[in-house]
Amino acid sequence: MSHWLEAALQDGLRAVDSNELIERAARHQLLVDIYRDERAARRVSPSLIAEECRLKRIKRYRRHQPRPGWNWGAAKGGRPSAGSALHFARGYFGEGLIVAALSAVCQTYQTPDGLQQGSGAHQFDILGVSPWAVFECEAVGASFLAYPDMIILTQDGGPELIQIKTPSVFAFDRYRRDGGASIRKRYGPQTAAEMYIGRRLGMPFERNHVLCFTWEGFTPGSDEARAGKEIRAIVETVAWEDGMDRFVESIAEEILEDDAAAERGAWPIAYPLGTRWPCDYCNYARTSDSDNPGCEENEKWEPRLLRSMAATPDGSSAPPRPMTSPSPLPPSASPVSPAPTPPAGSSALPPPLPS
Ligand code: SF4
Repeated sequence: MSHWLEAALQDGLRAVDSNELIERAARHQLLVDIYRDERAARRVSPSLIAEECRLKRIKRYRRHQPRPGWNWGAAKGGRPSAGSALHFARGYFGEGLIVAALSAVCQTYQTPDGLQQGSGAHQFDILGVSPWAVFECEAVGASFLAYPDMIILTQDGGPELIQIKTPSVFAFDRYRRDGGASIRKRYGPQTAAEMYIGRRLGMPFERNHVLCFTWEGFTPGSDEARAGKEIRAIVETVAWEDGMDRFVESIAEEILEDDAAAERGAWPIAYPLGTRWPCDYCNYARTSDSDNPGCEENEKWEPRLLRSMAATPDGSSAPPRPMTSPSPLPPSASPVSPAPTPPAGSSALPPPLPS
C-alpha cells in the first residue's frame, strides 16, 4: 500500500461484514441537506469550477435543465440515459461504501446523531461527510457551495479533505498507468475549489486526497493480491499551493461575467458540430431534434430573455454576437491543471462523475 488511506480502506472493508457494510452504505445514501432549498439558487460549486465547456458551465449556473421544463439527473443529449444512471449509481453507492468502511476503522466519526466510535485501527477522525457537511461562503461577488465528500482530522492535527471517485476500471487502469499527474489533471480544479471554500470558512486545509477506487478487486493470484493488495484503489494527494485561490476566484469571476452577458442575450459559443468530447457526454443536446432544442437555443430555456431583448429601447431585435471560445480558460499561471481536452473525435475519456 503506498498511501495510508488505501490501507485504511482495505482494512475497513475487511472489518465490517458485507450485510452491515451494505446497510451502513445505504444509510449514507439517505442523508440529506435539509437546507438545500434555502441556499442560493445560482452558486459556484467545485464541479462548476472544473467544467470544461464554458457554455455548459453558464447553463448549469443558470439552472438550465437537460431539456426546458424537464428535470432529470441521469440525462444525455436531453434524454434519459441508462449509462449515466449506472455511472451516477456507481458513484453514489461507491461513496457510501467508502464512508462506511473508513468510519469503521477511524477513531471517531461525527454523524447528524452525534459522535460515534470507530475501531481506532487508523489514526484519524471523521468530522463530517456529504451532504450534511456543507461549505458555503460569499467571495468575489459569487455564492460558493461545496459538499465535501469527507472532512477528516489527521494525526498532524490539521483538517484535510477526501474526495471520493469511482471511475470505471478502464479509467482507473489508465490513472495507474499514467500516474498521479493524470488524476490531478482530471480532478485538480475541483480539489482546489473545495479547499478554497473551506479555507474561506477558516478551516486551514493543506491537503485534499483524491481517493479513486473501482468496484473490481484484483484477482486472487495476481501480483497485487500476492503483495497483499485486494482492492483497486489509488490516492493522489493535492496540496494547497499559492495561487490556487486566485485560480478559483478568476474562474468564478468569469462565470459572473458570462452570467451578466447571458442576461443581455450573449452566450458563450458551443463546440463545433461533431465534437465528440465533451458533447457526446453532455446532458444537453448539441443539435435540436423533434424533442429537444440544441444547447445554443438558450431562449427555449429562458424565453424571458428573448422578450426583454425585443423590448430594448432602440427596438433592436438582433441577438448580440456570441462571446468567446468555449474553453474553460484557466489563467495561464494557474498551479492547477484544467480538465483534459482531448481532440475532437476522441471518445476515450469517461463522463464526469457526480460530485
Ligand atoms: S453539447 Fe457540447 S457545446 Fe453544447 S453545452 Fe454540451 S458540451 Fe457544451
